[in-house]
Amino acid sequence: MTQPDLTCSSPPHWRVAVIGSGPAGFYAVGELLKQQEMPVKVDLFDRLPTPYGLVRGGVAPDHQKIKAVCKIFDRIAGQEHFRYFGNVEFGRDLNRSEMLDHYDAVLYTVGSRSDRKLGIPGEDLEGSHSATEFVGWYNAHPDYRDKRFNLDSEQAVIIGMGNVAIDVARILSHRHEELAQTDISDEALSALASSRVKDIWIIGRRGPVQAAFTPVEARELMHLPETEVVLEADALDLDPASQKFLQEEAGKDTRKNIDLLEEMLETPPREKKKRLHILFLASPVEIVGEQGKVSSIKLRRNQLVEKPDGSIRAEGTERMLELKTGLVFRSVGYRGEPLPGVPFDEKSGTIPNEQGQILEEGSPCPREYTAGWIKRGPSGVVGTNKPDAIESVKKMLSTLNSSGKKPLETEQVPDIAQLLRNREVDFVSFQDWKLLEDYETKAGEAEGRPRKKVGTVKEMMEVVRSLREG
Ligand code: NAP
Repeated sequence: MTQPDLTCSSPPHWRVAVIGSGPAGFYAVGELLKQQEMPVKVDLFDRLPTPYGLVRGGVAPDHQKIKAVCKIFDRIAGQEHFRYFGNVEFGRDLNRSEMLDHYDAVLYTVGSRSDRKLGIPGEDLEGSHSATEFVGWYNAHPDYRDKRFNLDSEQAVIIGMGNVAIDVARILSHRHEELAQTDISDEALSALASSRVKDIWIIGRRGPVQAAFTPVEARELMHLPETEVVLEADALDLDPASQKFLQEEAGKDTRKNIDLLEEMLETPPREKKKRLHILFLASPVEIVGEQGKVSSIKLRRNQLVEKPDGSIRAEGTERMLELKTGLVFRSVGYRGEPLPGVPFDEKSGTIPNEQGQILEEGSPCPREYTAGWIKRGPSGVVGTNKPDAIESVKKMLSTLNSSGKKPLETEQVPDIAQLLRNREVDFVSFQDWKLLEDYETKAGEAEGRPRKKVGTVKEMMEVVRSLREG
């Protein structure tokens, strides 16, 4: 009897590599695996053994509901023609030309792992941190495991008024009991238990109408059991340009923010243990130090001016303010980092692209694409990455399908897994990750927590290796 010809019954697939397993990466994989006419096989790479990017390492530990999106990602990962390669770093274990040798197309979804600086004196003093580091630390991200935050200061100052600033403020405000029920890192849990922070300042350079936080996140601040929100009495006396914007152009979220801020302003003081001050119209000009450590921050009060292009900008006045503090967080936005050998625009911190197709010196790269924050910059919520990723995948597939090329699979290009094995890279499969996840969940259950995260790559790999074998 002759064997059936399996190659005929299985049509050739495009092989696509996705670098970075955060939301943009997973949404792109989902879209790629949906293709029927010209099917796709996808390998998803991550430099960490663990997947999910900022959903694991960025979303605040008291926001477990947002993390439920991982169930969608798991369903995507459960499909045929999907493989996960965790613990594989682009640029260290594999490079750009090797990727292009093994795949028909490559999609970079590496996010924005760094942060923007303020560019003021004193930013490098001890006690001055980026919110990115603090967030990574309390979320047990291995990159920040060795960071230390001295929480002895009674005042903490957060510069910037986006949702990350709100996250940081909330984590500093919560009681130990609340944090102890989350998947916060053990280091952060114990440091925050002995925190002496009582007054937390969130400082925006512009006014309430321009605040970047969203209403759901702002509302939570009103329900912190031990912390009350404090605003200046005239905080909502809007300048004419902001008033006009609010009446004529503002979206739903901005209007809701103003309603919430009014509610906060009208709430009588409740003598709670901690205060969360939301201060508008102030820009930091210097972080002052004593013996190398932050001792205060100098702020210049601003007024808002409408520019000829219609934007409303902050302009410094003569009024100054100095807050005594030993702890400053800059929370003025994430920033993308270049990938070795991949085009990068230093100014925007993104990969130059057109609808997701990468541009190299202005010309489109036929086989390279990008999605997520490294494509558009650090904006939007988790779900924003879905349409963004779909746009890039559509561009990729229309370019591939009209290229006249045959999938590499038909030429029997070797499997990337072999190359990684030859290099002794101990990659983590999705099954391996599930073993680690199960280990973390069980360890968490014992303490009434959703999971207890393993905090270093070394320990993660030890757990994976022992469970794989057992
Ligand atoms: P963001 O939303 O862009 O906010 C950055 C803030 O920094 C703005 O208030 C901005 O003010 C201010 N800023 C920028 N440069 C400054 C400077 N030189 N001096 C003083 N202030 C400055 O960034 P993010 O908070 O890092 O958040 C990133 C993204 O993640 C956002 O889309 C956010 O919604 C999302 N996120 C969502 C959640 C959630 O859904 N729960 C949680 C965390 C993050 P101007 O407006 O004046 O520039």
